[in-house]
Amino acid sequence: MVDSTATSQPYLTLNNGTKIPAIGLGTYLATEGDCKTVVREAILNHGYRNIDTAKVYENEEPIGEALQEVFAAGIKREDVIVTTKLWHSDKLDIEGALRTSLKKLQLDYIDLYLVHWMVPVMDWENENPIRGPPIHKVWAELERLVDAGLIKSIGVSNCAIPILVDIWSYARIKPVVNQVELHPYFVQKDSVEFHKKLGVVVQAYAPLGSSTWSLRPDKLKDLNLLAEPVLVALAAKYGKSVGQIVLNWHLWRGHQVIPKTAKVARLAENIQVWDFKLTEEEYESISGLNQDARFFNPKAFEFSGWNHLPYFE
Ligand code: NDP
Repeated sequence: MVDSTATSQPYLTLNNGTKIPAIGLGTYLATEGDCKTVVREAILNHGYRNIDTAKVYENEEPIGEALQEVFAAGIKREDVIVTTKLWHSDKLDIEGALRTSLKKLQLDYIDLYLVHWMVPVMDWENENPIRGPPIHKVWAELERLVDAGLIKSIGVSNCAIPILVDIWSYARIKPVVNQVELHPYFVQKDSVEFHKKLGVVVQAYAPLGSSTWSLRPDKLKDLNLLAEPVLVALAAKYGKSVGQIVLNWHLWRGHQVIPKTAKVARLAENIQVWDFKLTEEEYESISGLNQDARFFNPKAFEFSGWNHLPYFE
């Protein structure tokens, strides 16, 4: 049965007029079987209407199978926003990468296509290591693919403000979102304010502090957001889970959030996060947990054979 609660969650409006649910579903590290089940259940029974994936998550196929099932059950294609991402080594053949994602997802168009990392294609084995196109050429190609009807909206991810401003200066089709790491340990206050002024929605990845401990710099490995006493106390006071308190704080700050879970049992908890409010002082106390602690350190990729990404901050 199609879930009628879908429309009751808040939506944000992108700068091209598209409405996007304030709460989406992240899928990084969701394994194949879990991923299909969780995506299907999220959409059919829990009101989720935004699914976030990427080529490198290697789960576009199970997500595509889940989408087919939910459409067959009566959910309208136009009501679901599917996000996927261009991996940096695919910048040499963007249309090819996009068409591969479309095929795996079993879709005719991608709703939101993001440039996953804003770095050129590097090839350290050769004398001239920069092989990929500069971002203005990448952007022009993405605009062409929007014109061709294969993508509805384009955006960026892990994009530093100077690069975003540069894209903004020449883009015929503006980036609608910047998907960046954001949680109470990494609040990025000035950056969020800047995005608001520009009209670019900030999508908070790792909104619960993530589970990717192996990617963290050593000095941050002991931080455990969901065990923070201030959050535990607020959860007890409001009769919510700690995760719900954190996600509610994200909404208060105006972020779109994409918490990941591979557990069907957590889907309801992670979306029922907008129907209560903390006091201003309590929200500020959560922001006060900030340590500028960035867990997703691209430098770690250098040791994982995923091509070499320069670490910039
Ligand atoms: P999250 O902050 O969403 O945390 C996910 C972890 O929290 C998982 O271990 C999950 O476990 C657990 N969890 C989920 N819900 C709860 C809850 N209510 N209470 C306690 N624990 C919970 O981290 P992610 O790193 O997954 O980020 C979210 C999404 O953002 C990704 O899945 C991906 O779609 C996107 N992303 C984008 C990046 C980019 O470069 N653009 C980089 C990283 C992420 P379990 O699954 O067992 O429930």
